[in-house]
Amino acid sequence: MNPDEDIQDARLQQLVDGIVRLAAGELSARIEPSEQRDEIDAVITGVNLLAEELGHIHADLEARVTARTAMLRRTQVELEQMAKTDALTGLANRILLNERINDAILASAHGGNAPAVLILDLDSFKAINDTLGHSAGDAVLVEVSSRLRAAVRASDTVARLGGDEFAVLITGATEAEILHIAHRAWEALQESVDIGTETVWATASIGVCLRDPGYTAEELMRDADIAMYQAKAQGRNKVQLFHPDMLNAVQERSRITAELRTAAASGHLALLYQPVIELASGRVAGVEALVRWHHPVHGTIMPDKFISIAEETGLILELGRWVLHEGITQLSRWKTAAPELTNFRLHLNLSAAELLRSDLLEDVQATLATHEVEPCRLVLEITETVLMSRRTGEEQVLSGLRALGIGLQIDDFGTGYSSISYLRSLPADAVKVDHALIKDLDSDPQQQKFVSAILQLISAAELEAIVEGVETAGQAAKLEEMGCLYGQGYYYGRPVPASDILDRVRSTEPHR
Ligand code: C2E
Ligand code: CA
Ligand code: CA
Repeated sequence: MNPDEDIQDARLQQLVDGIVRLAAGELSARIEPSEQRDEIDAVITGVNLLAEELGHIHADLEARVTARTAMLRRTQVELEQMAKTDALTGLANRILLNERINDAILASAHGGNAPAVLILDLDSFKAINDTLGHSAGDAVLVEVSSRLRAAVRASDTVARLGGDEFAVLITGATEAEILHIAHRAWEALQESVDIGTETVWATASIGVCLRDPGYTAEELMRDADIAMYQAKAQGRNKVQLFHPDMLNAVQERSRITAELRTAAASGHLALLYQPVIELASGRVAGVEALVRWHHPVHGTIMPDKFISIAEETGLILELGRWVLHEGITQLSRWKTAAPELTNFRLHLNLSAAELLRSDLLEDVQATLATHEVEPCRLVLEITETVLMSRRTGEEQVLSGLRALGIGLQIDDFGTGYSSISYLRSLPADAVKVDHALIKDLDSDPQQQKFVSAILQLISAAELEAIVEGVETAGQAAKLEEMGCLYGQGYYYGRPVPASDILDRVRSTEPHR
């Protein structure tokens, strides 16, 4: 091998090494050309140029990747922002609020004031939306959010939870400061909102939960919500602080709701029947069915513990259906057992929601037909508040029931907004005077005059009167004296099981 070949070999080796380094990504690698300026050097120069070019392309790519990455990151931040803010008002949404509450809880774990949560629900937003339209509704929500933001401190988070529900997270504040902020939020919504030419009010019911450290975000929100519902129940447009008793009440209600759902199907509901007495003859004119819940653990539960819950949850529809079928079935059994009782009537209580049940009329009619009971044997008792505020749907149902020949009675008369002028226009045939009105009837002459006047008004409106809650012989005597037609109460008989009724009826049937 001659020396030239040696040199050439070394340079070829250098060339190969250089290419290997470049191929490995070391783009700054260069191969030193020799003095010879021969073909190998030409190749070396070519490779170096290519390396240079590769370097440029690579740098360019890098720059572009960096730019794209930054753009992606920005979009991601924007998306995250969008996912955490409410599009209409720009306020934080539930997700962001939740994050902030968790951050605040963590921050307060090492001492400092525990965070507080306010939940605000507008009192009459649905009406605004329904009457003025959705864009007016949106404008109200935007106005409310800016008022709330102005009412709280910059460090507090105002969020929209959806619909017309808002929340405020207050951090690092004392109890007094929190209540002050809550009051400012309330105050900010006292002023009317102008929407075009219309003026509306967007007041809110506000629940406040401030608790010791150790509370979770979920618990804070839950309890603020419970307090807000309490504020609503107490007449709306007010601030209500959460108290642990409220939670117990809510848990009790949800337990009752869950169990009530299956009570009818499990055979735990029962009807008792209380006689309605024709005062002049002492005859049992009929019975009022009163529902009882025989709870396997808690024993007999009275209707005042569960009817209102059933009404709020809609379970009343099912309960009412059960009462209707059970009551009419029982009435037909009595009819069979005592065919001589031709004008013995069954009274059933009907809740407001049941009047709006689309199939009420058909259900009543079909049940009566199935059991071959004449419609005139059935009386439905409806509280006066329902009858006063009746809407067109209810009106039709009431007229439909009347047209079938079913009796309609105004229940609890004297407890609601008894307006005498309504009496005449009500689609009813009798009035049940509430026991509150006759409490001291046997001792108080003033009350005697009052009840007597009420009875005269009822009869002037061409309605019959039934006085309920008669407990003493004195009350009964006075009512008879006043010419009251019917009475009901412990004095005449307590609510009893169906099996006791016929004996009671026969013992008072006038002798023929
Ligand atoms: P209401 O319709 O006013 O029924 C009369 C209530 O007064 C009954 O209470 C009855 O037991 C009670 N009562 C009867 N005589 C006297 C008396 O002399 N003195 C006193 N202090 N009370 C007397 P109850 O059975 O606890 O029912 C309470 C309410 O629950 C009923 O009031 C009615 O509004 C509702 N309710 C009962 N059963 C049903 C039902 O099947 N459906 C619906 N929707 N409501 C029902
Ligand atoms: Ca009743
Ligand atoms: Ca009543």
